[in-house]
Amino acid sequence: MVTRFAPSPTGYLHIGHVVNAIYVWRMAREAGGRVLLRIEDHDHLRCRPEHEVAILEDLEWLGFEPDEGVRPLLRQSDRAHLYEEALVRLRTTQHVYACDCSRKQIGGERYDGRCRERRLATERAGLGK
Ligand SMILES: [Zn+2]
Repeated sequence: MVTRFAPSPTGYLHIGHVVNAIYVWRMAREAGGRVLLRIEDHDHLRCRPEHEVAILEDLEWLGFEPDEGVRPLLRQSDRAHLYEEALVRLRTTQHVYACDCSRKQIGGERYDGRCRERRLATERAGLGK
């Protein structure tokens, strides 16, 4: 089992991060698994290098040592090519389709595929209704 802790360096580590870290590390350790650290730096406008440094220092100070993702540091922005390759594979196998529903319309945590058969004309990236 591999769990992941993926803070966004848009601010300093807060109590919500710590609660999540306790959960992630405990789940991994109890299962004999590993913890992957990945910096979620996709918000280029709000992410700051000083926050990234502070988060890493705070995690170390609190005793949360990831098994992977620190040296070298794993950032989401370094993996764009992997996401694009995965998207190409999904398009090739026709597992991608457009959806124009808002988050409110979908509700819940799991998307039910309601637009799969609608055959909407195009995908539109970055819909954040
Ligand atoms: Zn939809």
